Amino acid sequence: MDEYDSFSEIVFVKSSTKSLLDFLNSMKSKTRQMEQISKEILILKKSPLYAERIKNKVFPVIGEGSCDAEIMFVGEAPGKNEAKTGKPFCGASGRVLDELLDSISLDRQVVYVTNIVKDRPTANRDPSKEEIKIYGPFLDRQVDIIQPKIIATLGRYSAEYIMKKFGLEDKIETIGKMRGKIFKAEVSYGEIKIIPLLHPAVALYNLFSRDDLKKDFKSLKNK
Ligand code: URA
Repeated sequence: MDEYDSFSEIVFVKSSTKSLLDFLNSMKSKTRQMEQISKEILILKKSPLYAERIKNKVFPVIGEGSCDAEIMFVGEAPGKNEAKTGKPFCGASGRVLDELLDSISLDRQVVYVTNIVKDRPTANRDPSKEEIKIYGPFLDRQVDIIQPKIIATLGRYSAEYIMKKFGLEDKIETIGKMRGKIFKAEVSYGEIKIIPLLHPAVALYNLFSRDDLKKDFKSLKNK
């Protein structure tokens, strides 16, 4: 190895160490910001769902996965199992979601999964406008932290919320028409793709087959 080679090797090692340190610091900061969100939601007394959570001794569901994910999945609100464990999509709908992720060889650990509403609406009803208004800003902060390249919405509530958030309100149609389509928007860090998908629970109610859902999921690979 001549002098030039060893010099360029030092430069290479230094710059890759620096980018590794930058990456680790950014991950630390992202994790800290997520923890802050969890703390605020834990004591969110202004939410109409707070008292119910305390009474039932269950948890808010903040989200799970990589804070550095390229793909973020946004569902509607936690169900019974999710509130019991504090984990998103860990019940019957979650098993369908896992099957769909598997069908496109996407590992759940590399994506981030969350909901608009972070506490369980009583008796699994749809989230109300007021609840979406209270919890939406937390989802906005999670999107800012993660800076995903793709947001895949699960169900019509999250599709509408995310489409509006990114100035795509004039493209909103029924979820049946939007499913699997790719919408693009400009954000501070570049371009983001929004892919509205059906909620996995539709397969449990036999409204659509798993194959229908798998076809839509392919949009995540053909982005
Ligand atoms: N349905 C959702 O929308 N989110 C969950 O976390 C579970 C079921």
